[in-house]
Amino acid sequence: MSLSIFDLFKIGIGPSSSHTVGPMVAARRFLLELETHGLLERSARVETALFGSLALTGKGHATDKAIILGLCGEQPESVDADKADDMVAAVRDSRTIALLGKRRIAFDEAADLLFKFGEILPKHPNGITFRAFDEAGAALYEGNFYSVGGGFVLSEAEADQGEARPGANVSLPHPFGSGEELLAIGEQSGASIAEIVLRNESAWRDAEETRAGLLQIWSAMESCIERGCRAEGCLPGGLEVKRRAKSLYDELVRRPEAALKDHLTILDWVNLYALAVNEENAAGGKVVTAPTNGAAGVIPAVGAYYMRFVPGADEDGLVTFLATAAAIGMLYKRNASISAAEVGCQGEVGVACSMAAGGLCAVLGGSNAQIENAAEIGMEHNLGLTCDPIGGLVQIPCIERNTMGAVKAINAARLALRGDGTHFVSLDRVIETMRQTGQDMSAKYKETSEGGLAVNVVEC
Ligand code: SF4
Repeated sequence: MSLSIFDLFKIGIGPSSSHTVGPMVAARRFLLELETHGLLERSARVETALFGSLALTGKGHATDKAIILGLCGEQPESVDADKADDMVAAVRDSRTIALLGKRRIAFDEAADLLFKFGEILPKHPNGITFRAFDEAGAALYEGNFYSVGGGFVLSEAEADQGEARPGANVSLPHPFGSGEELLAIGEQSGASIAEIVLRNESAWRDAEETRAGLLQIWSAMESCIERGCRAEGCLPGGLEVKRRAKSLYDELVRRPEAALKDHLTILDWVNLYALAVNEENAAGGKVVTAPTNGAAGVIPAVGAYYMRFVPGADEDGLVTFLATAAAIGMLYKRNASISAAEVGCQGEVGVACSMAAGGLCAVLGGSNAQIENAAEIGMEHNLGLTCDPIGGLVQIPCIERNTMGAVKAINAARLALRGDGTHFVSLDRVIETMRQTGQDMSAKYKETSEGGLAVNVVEC
């Protein structure tokens, strides 16, 4: 399977790539299939059943809202995040839904959107079954989909073939399946990791389009930081978690001289960027999956650190930062997982930290070997990181955890830059270790909210 940079970075809405973005995509895909078979017009009822982690933490992750939006035909990258709640409320109030915005049918949420607690579909912990029925209640069409992390969705057939999307089989000038292969290509061609990945992107579009796409991704990340720094109040969901980014921003701007006395004030800014993004994500705002929504703050925070605190930073560097980070993310997606339901938070914040570390190392002048080292450090010290969100909400520990991931990524890049790239554990070994650790991890710690902080902190 060939992965593009834009498979790793996608604009969508919060709070979760696997529980919000993926289900929205799946619901729309099911209806498009229905329409292709000429059955949309005959459909009088559509039933959605959520399995595994989607059932257990779907309410907290707004999976119900995502399914309704997807059935309405909305797409994560284009839905108006400010109007999404009103659209869902209109469906609930009218007890009707316009499938793909075209065919209005009755919608009884209690009967038509089912949370199958304790049940799991065979191919992945995040399974969804859609069924369409005619006026007489006869089944018209049915389909299973799997939300496998980072907004990726597989149909039943695709899950069998390991195939993710159209365009996945294009042939690339520099195909690579491991860190070792990536380094070997760099060695033979003299190209940096970013150059290798950008050349591969030419299989889908020309270089200018890729650059424009990456700058658009960065612009969405920056906008998210800016919105997060302005928003106040508590996050939705019932935990009454107070947003912190705005007060931190106000404090940093009000007392700029503090930075002269305490050089680690830079870390306050890095923390701020990550908090801002993840608070926006928790509030259902527009974010970039990087490589997931729960971990959406790490790469923007490190990117903003680069742009604002590294002398000589520019747009070319930003493109290199994102392309290098994406190359590393591809290795995790291909050889392990970026789904917390499969491997815990090491697959979200851990992967984002590894990606950001490699990206930052590249723009700080690191060689390919140093970049691989930075990415390896970024994951090695996140191994075993569990996913245990309180109340099933992507808030605690998720928001703060992104600040930790960002700071750790900066440190990983700096550590790698102090060496010559030679190191004991290769990136490939650490990715395989992460996969095995995730396999061995109890299901309690894999996005089920049945263990860890989720059961040791009383919800107010
Ligand atoms: S704990 Fe980590 S993996 Fe789990 S929801 Fe939060 S950010 Fe995502």
